Amino acid sequence: MAEDKSRNQLLRSLPGVDNLLEYMQKDAWFAEVPRSVRIASAREAIEELRSAILDGALTGEAGSLSEEQVQQKVQKAASQRMTQNLRYLVNATGVIVHTNLGRSRLAAAALESIQTIGAGYSNLEFDLDVGKRGSRYSAVEDLLCEISGAEAAMVVNNNAGAVLLCLDTIAKGKKVIVSRGELVEIGGSFRIPDVMAKSGALLQEVGATNRTHAKDYEKAVDNETGLLLKVHTSNFGLVGFTKSVSLEELVALGEKYRLPVMEDLGSGTFVDFSKYNLVREPTVQESVASGADVVTFSGDKLLGGPQAGIITGSKEILERIKQNPLTRALRIDKLTLTALESTLRLYRDEKRAVEEIPTLNMLTTPAEVLEEKAGRLAAMLKKAGDGRMEIDVAEGASRAGGGSMPLEGLPTFCVRVKVNFISVNQVEQRLRSGCPPIIGRIEEDRFIMDVRTLAEREFDIIIQAFESMLQSQPG
Ligand SMILES: *Cc1c(COP(=O)(O)O)cnc(C)c1O
Repeated sequence: MAEDKSRNQLLRSLPGVDNLLEYMQKDAWFAEVPRSVRIASAREAIEELRSAILDGALTGEAGSLSEEQVQQKVQKAASQRMTQNLRYLVNATGVIVHTNLGRSRLAAAALESIQTIGAGYSNLEFDLDVGKRGSRYSAVEDLLCEISGAEAAMVVNNNAGAVLLCLDTIAKGKKVIVSRGELVEIGGSFRIPDVMAKSGALLQEVGATNRTHAKDYEKAVDNETGLLLKVHTSNFGLVGFTKSVSLEELVALGEKYRLPVMEDLGSGTFVDFSKYNLVREPTVQESVASGADVVTFSGDKLLGGPQAGIITGSKEILERIKQNPLTRALRIDKLTLTALESTLRLYRDEKRAVEEIPTLNMLTTPAEVLEEKAGRLAAMLKKAGDGRMEIDVAEGASRAGGGSMPLEGLPTFCVRVKVNFISVNQVEQRLRSGCPPIIGRIEEDRFIMDVRTLAEREFDIIIQAFESMLQSQPG
């Protein structure tokens, strides 16, 4: 068959790794590209070309591959390998704690401390007062107790780790009673039942999906029970005919049966958001005050700090947690620790916290401020667009994200753009693959940017991205 023949011809014209290395040696573009990257890029390019030929996606006019085709592939492969994978990007989605986009932006104070501690040595595990080995956790523990009212505290790598560690410490080999309505899955396949299984605790579900009563827990208690657990159903809302048992009720049950009570708050917050016209989320202080023995929550959700798992609770249980060998495996590193300490310090003054912690600031920005902000971005874009883009401002709804306030859209303002001559999908794709990438969404044939999650300094980046898009497009 003629087709097979030309395909074989094309396959035979594929260069070898050595040919490509020779070419890269001569081309100045590759001057800074290390040999290991050149070899990997050559292999990748050859492999890609081979599959394209076999799939019939690549056919050679002249019966062989052009030099240019091959060189472009190698250069693309090398360029990707030379670019840092984890990159800064512009979040125009309006989802504040966006798990795929890095959750919380850090406060300036946290960034400064990362810079200082990362660049030098530190008293990470050294007590400067006595000149001997000290605890890595003591500073944040004191702060956490001060802010939350807890007796003791501890931090680990993330909240999933905190839950695992607590269950392992308190309830290994014992039954843990949880409401069916709270067996949640959090993104990234963190499921309470799975974590429970890993910890060696035995899950005992009680109640129905929509309704659980105190008597359901009470009936389940026996001498193998080791813990009563409440999980904040942070990423979904149960509405309608529902009933759940409050933490206070669980604490009362715990006292009656001499069982510890734990609450996994997930998106823990120290701030009562109802003061800022937002939906109330249970605060860490309330959970501590209600008498729970242990409370766990994330450092990078509503708290607005770095990724961390925070555990507050009674001295007795925290002492056992600190002794658990798993604690060492889940240890928090110094950069996270210093960023967390700096973030927690801001909470000593709530006004300051709301101003300086980006997550809190974005959550509490009033709609009228966002309307004005959107107006300014729209005006800048109109100027840059010079009649080649349709731009307007529309009302929208931002999301808290990170599995908090799932039912609440925060009233916001979005800039909507339609670029003449380019489809909205192309606009989205070009902005996403730009440098830095800009992530927004498409709605009704328009590219939508919610200004709530945009920093002022990012306006220029957006303008430049659209300008270069227009430049690359004939009038
Ligand atoms: C997010 C969440 C977790 C996991 O926390 P990470 O910090 O992401 O590990 C656990 N439990 C609940 C209820 C959560 O919302």
